[in-house]
Amino acid sequence: MTAHDVLVRCDEVARTFGRGRTAVVAVHSVTCEVRERQRVAIMGPSGSGKSTLLHLMAGLDLPTRGSVEWPAIGGRNQLRPGPISVIFQGPGLISALDVVENVALPLLLAGSPPADARRAAHDALARLGLESLGAKLPEELSGGQAQRIAVARGLAGSPRLILADEPTGQLDQATGAEVIDVLLEASLQSGAGLVISTHDQAVVDRLDLMWSMRDGRLDGVEVLTCSR
Ligand code: ADP
Ligand code: MG
Repeated sequence: MTAHDVLVRCDEVARTFGRGRTAVVAVHSVTCEVRERQRVAIMGPSGSGKSTLLHLMAGLDLPTRGSVEWPAIGGRNQLRPGPISVIFQGPGLISALDVVENVALPLLLAGSPPADARRAAHDALARLGLESLGAKLPEELSGGQAQRIAVARGLAGSPRLILADEPTGQLDQATGAEVIDVLLEASLQSGAGLVISTHDQAVVDRLDLMWSMRDGRLDGVEVLTCSR
């Protein structure tokens, strides 16, 4: 293992929203890192700072204090589209685009030729068993289908670090387990790092490490021995 395996490193990172009496400290001085092939669960109650920490690790948000670095990837402007994919807590599909176009969009933004982007989008949809939905518009999908499309979008293009924010939150247990299968398979095949925030112990049990968050602090790291 070398420093170059480290996909993201947070050093005493804090994020405060707002100022003065109404300021909310969403994340307090968190130090953590994710390496290639590592599969990490972030567990914690609602409001404990999981989404804020994921957005900081994605480079989508700036810390108020501390630093976030991506030693194996590069600077902030090299993170997306490409090496880091984020599967957001809500699906966030674009209503005017069909499913294939939604999944292909990040690849097109990254400069892929349209035919390659469509092929990669079809492949990602197939991994989730969603090929038949390719021509549908977001308004024609159920909430669970939309969430799985967002997972496919996160996998298309082989990211090196996948940050998934409660990806099974709207899914029944069996469908949620299938989504976790696909995320684990993607990490296994490509060596991508995988971070999943969740409330679900069944999801945590399938990963390698569990970070516990409470009131914006990372208050425990547990190595899970019976993963998969
Ligand atoms: P979790 O994902 O664990 O539910 P969040 O990271 O969403 O937690 O939120 C942590 C805290 O930060 C909460 O108190 C939340 O209300 C607050 N917070 C998150 N985002 C914002 C924001 N954009 N503006 C103000 N407060 C926010
Ligand atoms: Mg959240």
